[in-house]
Amino acid sequence: MRNPVIYWFRNDLRLHDNPALSKAIETGKPVVPVYILDDSLFSQHPLGFNRMGNHRKNFLFESLLDLSEAIEKAGSRLWIYKGRTSAILRDIYKEINAEAIFAQSEYASEEKGVEEELKLSVNLRLIDGSMLFTPLMVPFSPMQSPFYYTAFKNKVWELGPLVRPLPTVTQLPSLNELEQSRPNELFVPTKTNAQLIFKGGENEGLKRLDDYFSTNAPLHYSETRNALHGKDYSSWLAPWLANGALSVRLVWQRLSQLMPVNNIEIESIKTLKEQLIWRDYFRYLMMRYGNRLFWFKGLRSSEPSMFNDRETFEKWRLGQTGQPIVDALMRELFHTGFMSNRGRMLASYYLAKELKVNWQWGAAWFESMLMDYDVYSNYGNWAYQSGRGTDSRVNRRFNLVKQAEKFDSDGSFGGKWKQ
Ligand SMILES: Cc1cc2nc3c(=O)[nH]c(=O)nc-3n(C[C@H](O)[C@H](O)[C@H](O)COP(=O)(O)OP(=O)(O)OC[C@H]3O[C@@H](n4cnc5c(N)ncnc54)[C@H](O)[C@@H]3O)c2cc1C
Repeated sequence: MRNPVIYWFRNDLRLHDNPALSKAIETGKPVVPVYILDDSLFSQHPLGFNRMGNHRKNFLFESLLDLSEAIEKAGSRLWIYKGRTSAILRDIYKEINAEAIFAQSEYASEEKGVEEELKLSVNLRLIDGSMLFTPLMVPFSPMQSPFYYTAFKNKVWELGPLVRPLPTVTQLPSLNELEQSRPNELFVPTKTNAQLIFKGGENEGLKRLDDYFSTNAPLHYSETRNALHGKDYSSWLAPWLANGALSVRLVWQRLSQLMPVNNIEIESIKTLKEQLIWRDYFRYLMMRYGNRLFWFKGLRSSEPSMFNDRETFEKWRLGQTGQPIVDALMRELFHTGFMSNRGRMLASYYLAKELKVNWQWGAAWFESMLMDYDVYSNYGNWAYQSGRGTDSRVNRRFNLVKQAEKFDSDGSFGGKWKQ
């Protein structure tokens, strides 16, 4: 039997434009696709809630079921396990006498820790796949990545024409005899009856992309993007982008293909591309600063004037602060696993700067709740909004009454999520 390679799916749950998977196939060896639900995902936060709440979990399971089907159509089978990632991968590697493990690079400490453990005993090949502009493309080393977003954007903007998605994988070379030698128990994600506002999986991500681009909405993005609710005020692509069911390069390409005819349309395309660049920016920030992005002090040297006030945190988390717009937003998050960008800015600001509660707690709650949870964007944005990250105006304040008047002028959002 020819020695196979393992393809370890991580936050790249798709067959379209998947650079690491394409590299695995290029070896010409049989490819064994594997996904592992790490035990750490099912742990409890010390504050008493699940690290991965139900919305996120259901969205992930749907994504895995969709990926399994796509892989079957491509002539292979996805092996899904639950347990300790590095131990399981090492077992499989030995059992099937694999030549290498291919996977998409990640940049946060937990993910890097698993990579380091694996490197001790397997041939691990990591490839950048979750960004528009990889470290090989940008004109700076990740350790010298610009601190401020605007400087970062200015350095990468002109690389836009180099963003090109790869073709979809339609065939996965497999070997039947591998089925017999599979170690450990496979995990079967259950189909859920959850009423999710978004359905997980590559198919649904591509469908949302098509739906959004079949309307005029992307050409009006700069006018609508601050809304708190309503149809197509923003792309709603984040959940699929976050677990990689949708490639960010595909979104960029679709935006580049639009033909704007006036300034609003030009501005909208530019603004939406800039939002996609924020995603890259926070990945580079994590590469440069590592764990500091999770610290209480964040990237700043002064001590934060925030406190571990459990009672106030619980009120915020459950939408019971008495501040109507924040309460409505937090209830929306609790019931749907989603919140608009403007909403996230207001809710995080309120916890950290007005209630003066430890911003890490707020970030952990978002981590549990958000269907689009992405470690880089979540902690990067939380640090930014709390004055602990890369906002040049660390003491920036919002007037929440004015914000509510401006972004919920008819009170319909507040009314929808009233207790
Ligand atoms: C406190 C806080 C926490 C956040 N946590 C997350 C998170 O865990 N995961 C996540 O994907 N986004 C996060 N964001 C960023 C942003 O709010 C969401 O990406 C956006 O609201 C998702 O809706 P959309 O897909 O319609 O975005 P659109 O407005 O349509 O933007 C298109 C895409 O650009 C990216 N994007 C937009 N804004 C940002 C941003 N500020 N930072 C990074 N990427 C951005 C997203 O991938 C998004 O899907 C957070 C923002 C704040 C203020």
